[in-house]
Amino acid sequence: MSKTTPPVQKNEIIHVTITDLSHQGAGVAKHEGYTLFIPKALPGETCEVKVTKTSKGYGFARLIHIHEPSSDRTEAPCPIYNTCGGCQLQHMTYEGQLRYKQKQVSDALERLGGITDVPVHPTLGMDHPWRYRNKSQVPVGERDGKVIAGFYQERSHRIVDMQECIIQNEHNDEIVQKVKDLANHYGIRGYDEEKHRGTLRHVVVRYGRQSGELMVVFVTRDEALPNKKNLIEDIRKAFPAVKSIVQNINPKRTNVIFGDKTKVLWGEEYIYDSIGAIKFAISARSFYQVNPEQTKVLYDKTLEYANLTGSETVIDAYCGIGTISLFLAQQAKHVYGVEIVPEAISDAKRNAELNGLTNTDFAVGEAENVIPWWAAQGIRPDVFVVDPPRKGCDEKLLNTMLEMKPKRIVYVSCNPATLARDLKVLEEGGYKTKQVQPVDMFPQSTHVECISQLILKEGN
Ligand code: SAH
Repeated sequence: MSKTTPPVQKNEIIHVTITDLSHQGAGVAKHEGYTLFIPKALPGETCEVKVTKTSKGYGFARLIHIHEPSSDRTEAPCPIYNTCGGCQLQHMTYEGQLRYKQKQVSDALERLGGITDVPVHPTLGMDHPWRYRNKSQVPVGERDGKVIAGFYQERSHRIVDMQECIIQNEHNDEIVQKVKDLANHYGIRGYDEEKHRGTLRHVVVRYGRQSGELMVVFVTRDEALPNKKNLIEDIRKAFPAVKSIVQNINPKRTNVIFGDKTKVLWGEEYIYDSIGAIKFAISARSFYQVNPEQTKVLYDKTLEYANLTGSETVIDAYCGIGTISLFLAQQAKHVYGVEIVPEAISDAKRNAELNGLTNTDFAVGEAENVIPWWAAQGIRPDVFVVDPPRKGCDEKLLNTMLEMKPKRIVYVSCNPATLARDLKVLEEGGYKTKQVQPVDMFPQSTHVECISQLILKEGN
């Protein structure tokens, strides 16, 4: 048979053994050397599957029957798990998920970075891997004349009404339900995406896990929000922990949630939260980690790997709102943070002030362009921390790091594939990866986050 012809056809029923999990959390099986992806199947399982799609290199199949379930299999507790698509691994025990994430990291390092001699520690997980999210962003629409709010059905823009999301904080769920009831009661129309009509597009709720403070944001199509006064009063009465009620106006035909204009309807512009000893001000649109409990675990480990004594100069590239920078500033001489989004840097400066951390400087710009300029000013970091987006570090930044020769590099990564690629460059440039620690920031999903510690080899 020619290599380009798949050995199976659409609608064919076959028996396969699952050997691995893909990045998207689907089971992977080889059938006569041909790769098939089978959503919701787990490694070790033998199953009957129906082929749903084939292409030259690989195909997809649907699970029909599991002959031998994996010991990692469990009943997904969420009633909407199969329609929602927000979580991918609820059918796997949490221990299984943590093992899978560790393996994703060590496999990527080996396959894509040729790195085989580095300890990848067991994933640090949560004691209770549910109800961890501190931010809800729920699309609002209408069906049969009633306001509904929930989630977009997988691969569509059809809103499915939802009562609760079990990875979401309870308060957020309760507030969304209340807003839905109030909208129906006060005749506030849900948004119709196709006709670009109606009022309420999204409800966003933010919760400070340490402070208990809540913020409610109504994203509306235009300035008008009928019965605004009653709406505000009823929410305040029902949820005294709400400290801020905000309206964001998004008049565009777009998938982007927020528009440019935000106004405070009642209370404060910010709510506050802390991670460890550091306090943060969070506005409607601020970036802030969504799992604060695990963020503390991630940052504590980052601090441990940075191994600071108080005399070090540190650079934090891709610093966002300066969360890691401020954590590091508690134990460093000086921290320089750089980030491309100007609003995030304003937040970082405000948060530094809020915490009285005067040993920090923040700059707006591309890390790969700002840091060489810092080098030209004579700034010499002892420790370099990077936390890039999924595409990894810019090559120019990696070269700058190799030229600046910090004693230690701490690489926080949300994508093991680009991490492996970048570690290879750094290893070839004189660094040794000492250890890698996966941290589970998003239980029930396939997202993998990890921290790597690198040290400059002697003689470099
Ligand atoms: N360290 C932060 C955020 C990391 S997310 C935290 O822990 O919260 C990655 C960040 O990199 C984003 O805020 C993104 O805006 C920023 N970014 C993307 N490309 C960049 C570049 N070329 N230079 C600087 N920052 C960049």
